[in-house]
Amino acid sequence: MRYLKLLKTYKKQICFTILMIILICILSYFIYHNFSKSNVSCILNREYDNYKTKIVVDFNNDHTLSIEEVFETGDNAILKTKRIEATLLEYDFSVLKNKIIVKHKIQYSKKTKNLVREYVESGYSCTNEKTINKQIKYQLDNYATYQEVGTPYEEVEIKAYSDEKDLRENVLIDNNSFDPNIVGKYVVTYRLSISDVRDEYLYRVIDVEDTTAPILKLKGPKEITLKKGETYKDAGVEVSDNYDKEIKEKIKTKGKVDTSKLGEYEIVYEVTDSSGNIASVSKKVKVTSKGGIIPQIKEEDGITYVDGTLVVNKKYSIPKDYTPGLKDTTYDAFTKLKQEAKKKGYTIQILSGYRNYADQEKLYNDYVKKYGKEKADTFSAEPGHSEHQTGLALDVGKLDTSFGNTPAGKWLAANAYKYGFIIRYPEGKEKITGYQYEPWHIRYLGKDLAQKVYKSGLTLEEYFGIDS
Ligand SMILES: [Zn+2]
Repeated sequence: MRYLKLLKTYKKQICFTILMIILICILSYFIYHNFSKSNVSCILNREYDNYKTKIVVDFNNDHTLSIEEVFETGDNAILKTKRIEATLLEYDFSVLKNKIIVKHKIQYSKKTKNLVREYVESGYSCTNEKTINKQIKYQLDNYATYQEVGTPYEEVEIKAYSDEKDLRENVLIDNNSFDPNIVGKYVVTYRLSISDVRDEYLYRVIDVEDTTAPILKLKGPKEITLKKGETYKDAGVEVSDNYDKEIKEKIKTKGKVDTSKLGEYEIVYEVTDSSGNIASVSKKVKVTSKGGIIPQIKEEDGITYVDGTLVVNKKYSIPKDYTPGLKDTTYDAFTKLKQEAKKKGYTIQILSGYRNYADQEKLYNDYVKKYGKEKADTFSAEPGHSEHQTGLALDVGKLDTSFGNTPAGKWLAANAYKYGFIIRYPEGKEKITGYQYEPWHIRYLGKDLAQKVYKSGLTLEEYFGIDS
């Protein structure tokens, strides 16, 4: 009885509660079905007159995301976006054949979930041609153009006519948003206004791009020579770019110089601008036992002297009429060497001494005929490039690489400097000298220089820091 009485008293409240529960159930069912039914889809509505577009997106995981987007390219060529429940991260459009591809990146968050979705919507088909009332022709030469940043605005050809009547004066071009100095994509609107006919629009997208690479310049010389143990100071580079103001920080340096070790080092500087254009420049650092920033190279009567020493190699030649014969200093020094060798039990004879230009020419040409130029160049000098023409070089012992391994050959290599000679084309230095290993070819430099070169373990080219 007591319960019945209670029921009677709260009749209204109970009915209301039940009704509410039913309502909530219906609503939940409705919401559930609405929210979960679709896959990712994009609906694109386009209104012809003012180019309004509407995109509706449904995501498949219990959330609905609707985006209404207005793409206005009517009177003012402004891209406007109206968003619901979403944050637009990126908005970009590019031109591909007859379509403008619109790319969005949207982030939306719902309570605890924070999802990033990316989708590409294409379909803003553009046309560069319109026929109005079957009489009026309205056409743009091109609706998608590219131009380099910093170059002035360029107009395309516009065709607008009706029965041979030129209507180009009726076309109003709006390029107010265009800035040739800022990389980006711009829409230019062409509005054709004729009385009694509705306004017609054509659009052109101008893609302002930066395809110019930065300019990178070395601050110091392209090649420097340091003495072993000397401190290397990087002079660095200068950089400028047509578009990026802050580009200095983007310079990357590759390579290191170890002045404790003899050798050649390469330092490469590289920079990439904000548009992805790359520039690079490099420099060579040679570490030699002698050092010297720049070797003193002098030319006198067609003869090259490096720090006072006559040099002949594939790069530096001597004139045809230079005919000194075998120099006395060379002969005398060799005689002493030969005598000392004899004491040790080695017989070292001169096989070839002085050769003039004509002799060398004949010899070289014979080798070329027999072996081909490429091979001949590894062991024979072109006329004017032979050390034998200087009167300072000799071929001794045996004309065979095996000579280097004989006791006489080994003694020669280890002691020649004491008499003023060096083995001019050592083993393992073929790439530097340009010649194969010749344990028999000795070059007179004088005792002082020969000793320095020998102790450095370098070729004459490396020692002087000159080209071969
Ligand atoms: Zn020789």
